[in-house]
Amino acid sequence: MVKWHRNRACVNNPRVAKTDEVDWWPQPSTVRRRVVVVGTGVAGMEAAWIAAARGHDVTVFGIGQRVGSGVRLQSLLPGGEPLRGIYEYQLHALFDRVVVITPRESIAQKTALVTRQGIVRRCHEKHIETIVLAEPRWAGVFHEGRLEYANVYNGDTGVIPDVAFFAYSTPRVPEDTLAGPLRAAGIETRLVGDCRAPGGLLAATSDGHAAGNEI
Ligand SMILES: Cc1cc2nc3c(=O)[nH]c(=O)nc-3n(C[C@H](O)[C@H](O)[C@H](O)COP(=O)(O)OP(=O)(O)OC[C@H]3O[C@@H](n4cnc5c(N)ncnc54)[C@H](O)[C@@H]3O)c2cc1C
Repeated sequence: MVKWHRNRACVNNPRVAKTDEVDWWPQPSTVRRRVVVVGTGVAGMEAAWIAAARGHDVTVFGIGQRVGSGVRLQSLLPGGEPLRGIYEYQLHALFDRVVVITPRESIAQKTALVTRQGIVRRCHEKHIETIVLAEPRWAGVFHEGRLEYANVYNGDTGVIPDVAFFAYSTPRVPEDTLAGPLRAAGIETRLVGDCRAPGGLLAATSDGHAAGNEI
Protein backbone atom coordinates (compact mmCIF):
# COMPACT_ATOMS: atom_id res chain seq x y z
CA MET A 1 0.00 0.00 0.00
CA VAL A 2 1.34 3.47 -0.83
CA LYS A 3 0.41 7.01 0.13
CA TRP A 4 1.96 9.95 -1.69
CA HIS A 5 -0.30 12.73 -0.41
CA ARG A 6 -2.98 11.14 -2.55
CA ASN A 7 -5.68 8.60 -1.94
CA ARG A 8 -4.47 5.28 -0.65
CA ALA A 9 -3.84 2.75 -3.40
CA CYS A 10 -2.89 -0.92 -3.44
CA VAL A 11 -1.53 -3.04 -6.31
CA ASN A 12 -3.80 -5.99 -5.55
CA ASN A 13 -6.85 -4.34 -4.04
CA PRO A 14 -8.27 -1.50 -6.16
CA ARG A 15 -10.97 -0.85 -3.55
CA VAL A 16 -8.59 -0.22 -0.68
CA ALA A 17 -9.75 2.51 1.72
CA LYS A 18 -13.06 2.91 -0.10
CA THR A 19 -16.07 3.04 2.18
CA ASP A 20 -17.36 -0.26 0.77
CA GLU A 21 -13.97 -2.02 0.83
CA VAL A 22 -14.79 -4.71 3.40
CA ASP A 23 -18.22 -5.85 2.21
CA TRP A 24 -17.88 -5.06 -1.50
CA TRP A 25 -18.79 -7.70 -4.06
CA PRO A 26 -19.32 -7.19 -7.81
CA GLN A 27 -22.90 -6.22 -8.68
CA PRO A 28 -24.73 -8.98 -10.60
CA SER A 29 -25.24 -8.00 -14.22
CA THR A 30 -28.77 -7.79 -15.57
CA VAL A 31 -27.62 -9.25 -18.89
CA ARG A 32 -25.40 -12.34 -19.13
CA ARG A 33 -22.71 -11.81 -21.78
CA ARG A 34 -19.99 -13.91 -23.35
CA VAL A 35 -16.66 -12.34 -22.32
CA VAL A 36 -13.25 -13.31 -23.66
CA VAL A 37 -10.11 -12.09 -21.88
CA VAL A 38 -6.80 -12.34 -23.74
CA GLY A 39 -3.73 -12.54 -21.49
CA THR A 40 -3.32 -13.77 -17.94
CA GLY A 41 -1.49 -10.74 -16.52
CA VAL A 42 -2.83 -8.91 -13.49
CA ALA A 43 -5.09 -6.64 -15.57
CA GLY A 44 -6.69 -9.52 -17.48
CA MET A 45 -7.17 -11.71 -14.40
CA GLU A 46 -8.73 -8.85 -12.45
CA ALA A 47 -11.17 -8.13 -15.30
CA ALA A 48 -11.92 -11.87 -15.65
CA TRP A 49 -12.80 -12.61 -12.03
CA ILE A 50 -14.97 -9.52 -11.70
CA ALA A 51 -16.87 -10.22 -14.92
CA ALA A 52 -17.35 -13.87 -13.83
CA ALA A 53 -18.51 -12.82 -10.36
CA ARG A 54 -21.08 -10.58 -12.03
CA GLY A 55 -22.54 -13.60 -13.79
CA HIS A 56 -20.94 -13.32 -17.23
CA ASP A 57 -19.67 -16.34 -19.10
CA VAL A 58 -15.89 -15.73 -19.11
CA THR A 59 -13.15 -17.48 -21.10
CA VAL A 60 -9.49 -16.53 -20.56
CA PHE A 61 -6.85 -17.16 -23.21
CA GLY A 62 -3.26 -17.47 -21.95
CA ILE A 63 -0.11 -17.82 -23.96
CA GLY A 64 1.53 -20.44 -21.72
CA GLN A 65 0.43 -23.34 -19.56
CA ARG A 66 0.39 -21.32 -16.34
CA VAL A 67 -1.53 -18.26 -15.29
CA GLY A 68 0.47 -15.08 -14.82
CA SER A 69 2.83 -12.94 -16.83
CA GLY A 70 6.43 -11.97 -16.13
CA VAL A 71 5.21 -10.62 -12.81
CA ARG A 72 4.57 -14.15 -11.57
CA LEU A 73 8.10 -15.20 -12.52
CA GLN A 74 9.49 -12.09 -10.86
CA SER A 75 7.60 -12.87 -7.68
CA LEU A 76 9.26 -16.32 -7.57
CA LEU A 77 12.75 -14.89 -7.46
CA PRO A 78 14.55 -15.01 -4.09
CA GLY A 79 13.47 -12.03 -2.04
CA GLY A 80 11.38 -10.75 -4.95
CA GLU A 81 14.50 -8.93 -6.17
CA PRO A 82 13.46 -6.61 -9.00
CA LEU A 83 14.49 -7.89 -12.44
CA ARG A 84 16.51 -4.76 -13.04
CA GLY A 85 18.76 -5.78 -10.16
CA ILE A 86 19.53 -9.08 -11.83
CA TYR A 87 20.50 -7.37 -15.08
CA GLU A 88 22.81 -5.04 -13.20
CA TYR A 89 24.59 -8.01 -11.61
CA GLN A 90 24.70 -10.06 -14.81
CA LEU A 91 26.07 -7.18 -16.85
CA HIS A 92 28.78 -6.54 -14.34
CA ALA A 93 29.84 -10.18 -14.35
CA LEU A 94 30.24 -10.15 -18.15
CA PHE A 95 31.90 -6.81 -18.88
CA ASP A 96 34.87 -4.81 -17.56
CA ARG A 97 32.97 -1.57 -17.68
CA VAL A 98 29.23 -0.87 -17.70
CA VAL A 99 27.89 2.60 -18.54
CA VAL A 100 24.28 3.74 -18.40
CA ILE A 101 23.48 6.76 -20.60
CA THR A 102 20.22 8.56 -19.92
CA PRO A 103 18.68 11.81 -21.23
CA ARG A 104 17.17 12.31 -17.76
CA GLU A 105 18.77 14.15 -14.83
CA SER A 106 19.19 10.97 -12.82
CA ILE A 107 18.33 7.28 -12.96
CA ALA A 108 15.25 5.64 -11.39
CA GLN A 109 13.65 9.08 -11.04
CA LYS A 110 10.08 7.89 -11.15
CA THR A 111 10.43 5.02 -8.70
CA ALA A 112 9.63 5.19 -5.00
CA LEU A 113 12.44 6.46 -2.77
CA VAL A 114 13.29 3.06 -1.27
CA THR A 115 13.44 1.41 -4.71
CA ARG A 116 15.53 4.28 -6.10
CA GLN A 117 18.00 4.01 -3.22
CA GLY A 118 18.34 0.27 -3.88
CA ILE A 119 19.00 0.79 -7.61
CA VAL A 120 21.53 3.57 -6.99
CA ARG A 121 23.27 1.56 -4.24
CA ARG A 122 23.60 -1.55 -6.42
CA CYS A 123 24.94 0.47 -9.33
CA HIS A 124 27.59 2.08 -7.15
CA GLU A 125 28.52 -1.20 -5.47
CA LYS A 126 29.15 -2.67 -8.91
CA HIS A 127 30.91 0.46 -10.21
CA ILE A 128 28.31 0.94 -12.92
CA GLU A 129 28.81 4.46 -14.32
CA THR A 130 25.96 6.78 -15.19
CA ILE A 131 26.14 9.57 -17.77
CA VAL A 132 23.10 11.80 -17.34
CA LEU A 133 21.53 14.35 -19.71
CA ALA A 134 23.03 12.57 -22.69
CA GLU A 135 21.92 10.49 -25.67
CA PRO A 136 23.84 8.15 -27.96
CA ARG A 137 24.85 9.79 -31.22
CA TRP A 138 25.07 7.64 -34.30
CA ALA A 139 28.43 8.17 -35.95
CA GLY A 140 30.78 6.15 -38.13
CA VAL A 141 33.03 5.46 -35.15
CA PHE A 142 30.44 3.01 -33.80
CA HIS A 143 31.60 0.50 -36.42
CA GLU A 144 35.02 0.68 -34.77
CA GLY A 145 33.49 -0.13 -31.37
CA ARG A 146 33.37 3.46 -30.15
CA LEU A 147 30.09 4.95 -28.97
CA GLU A 148 29.63 8.69 -29.21
CA TYR A 149 27.14 10.47 -26.97
CA ALA A 150 26.00 14.07 -26.80
CA ASN A 151 24.65 16.29 -24.03
CA VAL A 152 20.94 16.91 -24.65
CA TYR A 153 21.24 20.64 -23.88
CA ASN A 154 24.55 21.85 -25.26
CA GLY A 155 25.51 19.07 -27.69
CA ASP A 156 28.93 18.50 -26.06
CA THR A 157 30.11 15.06 -27.09
CA GLY A 158 31.99 12.25 -25.40
CA VAL A 159 33.16 8.82 -26.55
CA ILE A 160 33.10 5.41 -24.88
CA PRO A 161 35.85 3.22 -26.36
CA ASP A 162 35.99 -0.58 -26.77
CA VAL A 163 32.24 -1.17 -26.77
CA ALA A 164 31.50 -4.91 -26.90
CA PHE A 165 27.76 -4.72 -26.29
CA PHE A 166 25.19 -1.97 -26.70
CA ALA A 167 21.59 -2.22 -25.43
CA TYR A 168 19.14 0.50 -26.39
CA SER A 169 16.14 0.66 -24.10
CA THR A 170 13.13 2.62 -25.32
CA PRO A 171 9.94 3.61 -23.52
CA ARG A 172 7.41 0.76 -23.52
CA VAL A 173 4.70 0.77 -26.20
CA PRO A 174 1.33 -0.98 -25.91
CA GLU A 175 1.04 -4.42 -27.55
CA ASP A 176 -2.49 -4.06 -28.95
CA THR A 177 -2.28 -5.67 -32.39
CA LEU A 178 -5.32 -7.87 -31.69
CA ALA A 179 -7.59 -4.89 -31.01
CA GLY A 180 -7.89 -3.67 -34.62
CA PRO A 181 -9.01 -7.00 -36.17
CA LEU A 182 -11.39 -7.71 -33.25
CA ARG A 183 -13.05 -4.31 -33.62
CA ALA A 184 -13.17 -4.71 -37.40
CA ALA A 185 -15.05 -7.98 -36.81
CA GLY A 186 -17.63 -6.07 -34.78
CA ILE A 187 -16.53 -7.44 -31.39
CA GLU A 188 -16.69 -4.92 -28.54
CA THR A 189 -13.09 -4.70 -27.38
CA ARG A 190 -11.65 -3.05 -24.25
CA LEU A 191 -7.97 -2.58 -23.57
CA VAL A 192 -6.72 -2.93 -20.01
CA GLY A 193 -3.36 -2.58 -18.25
CA ASP A 194 -0.18 -2.28 -20.29
CA CYS A 195 -2.16 -3.11 -23.42
CA ARG A 196 -4.00 0.23 -23.02
CA ALA A 197 -1.08 2.31 -21.76
CA PRO A 198 2.14 0.89 -20.24
CA GLY A 199 2.19 1.75 -16.57
CA GLY A 200 2.53 -0.19 -13.33
CA LEU A 201 0.68 -2.77 -11.31
CA LEU A 202 -1.58 -0.16 -9.73
CA ALA A 203 -2.87 0.93 -13.13
CA ALA A 204 -3.19 -2.69 -14.35
CA THR A 205 -5.34 -3.93 -11.47
CA SER A 206 -7.53 -0.82 -11.39
CA ASP A 207 -8.00 -0.95 -15.20
CA GLY A 208 -9.03 -4.62 -15.02
CA HIS A 209 -11.27 -3.88 -12.04
CA ALA A 210 -13.05 -1.08 -13.90
CA ALA A 211 -13.43 -3.13 -17.11
CA GLY A 212 -14.91 -6.11 -15.25
CA ASN A 213 -17.43 -3.82 -13.58
CA GLU A 214 -18.38 -1.95 -16.77
CA ILE A 215 -19.24 -4.98 -18.87
C1 LIG B 1 11.09 -5.68 -15.71
C2 LIG B 1 9.80 -5.07 -15.21
C3 LIG B 1 9.73 -4.66 -13.89
C4 LIG B 1 8.56 -4.06 -13.42
N1 LIG B 1 8.50 -3.68 -12.12
C5 LIG B 1 7.36 -3.12 -11.66
C6 LIG B 1 7.26 -2.72 -10.29
O1 LIG B 1 8.20 -2.88 -9.51
N2 LIG B 1 6.09 -2.15 -9.87
C7 LIG B 1 5.03 -1.96 -10.71
O2 LIG B 1 3.98 -1.45 -10.30
N3 LIG B 1 5.10 -2.34 -12.03
C8 LIG B 1 6.23 -2.90 -12.50
N4 LIG B 1 6.31 -3.27 -13.82
C9 LIG B 1 5.16 -3.04 -14.68
C10 LIG B 1 4.08 -4.11 -14.43
O3 LIG B 1 4.69 -5.40 -14.43
C11 LIG B 1 3.04 -4.01 -15.54
O4 LIG B 1 2.51 -2.71 -15.59
C12 LIG B 1 1.89 -5.01 -15.30
O5 LIG B 1 2.39 -6.34 -15.24
C13 LIG B 1 0.86 -4.90 -16.43
O6 LIG B 1 -0.08 -5.91 -16.27
P1 LIG B 1 -0.90 -6.39 -17.52
O7 LIG B 1 -1.81 -7.47 -17.01
O8 LIG B 1 -1.51 -5.23 -18.19
O9 LIG B 1 0.16 -6.96 -18.56
P2 LIG B 1 1.17 -8.19 -18.43
O10 LIG B 1 1.56 -8.44 -17.02
O11 LIG B 1 2.23 -7.93 -19.43
O12 LIG B 1 0.27 -9.44 -18.88
C14 LIG B 1 -0.17 -9.58 -20.21
C15 LIG B 1 -0.24 -11.07 -20.51
O13 LIG B 1 -0.88 -11.24 -21.76
C16 LIG B 1 -0.19 -12.22 -22.49
N5 LIG B 1 -0.51 -12.04 -23.91
C17 LIG B 1 -0.16 -11.04 -24.74
N6 LIG B 1 -0.65 -11.24 -25.96
C18 LIG B 1 -1.37 -12.39 -25.90
C19 LIG B 1 -2.12 -13.14 -26.85
N7 LIG B 1 -2.26 -12.74 -28.13
N8 LIG B 1 -2.69 -14.29 -26.45
C20 LIG B 1 -2.59 -14.71 -25.17
N9 LIG B 1 -1.87 -14.05 -24.22
C21 LIG B 1 -1.27 -12.91 -24.60
C22 LIG B 1 1.25 -11.99 -22.15
O14 LIG B 1 2.03 -13.12 -22.42
C23 LIG B 1 1.13 -11.72 -20.63
O15 LIG B 1 1.16 -12.92 -19.91
C24 LIG B 1 7.46 -3.88 -14.31
C25 LIG B 1 7.54 -4.32 -15.63
C26 LIG B 1 8.70 -4.91 -16.08
C27 LIG B 1 8.77 -5.36 -17.52
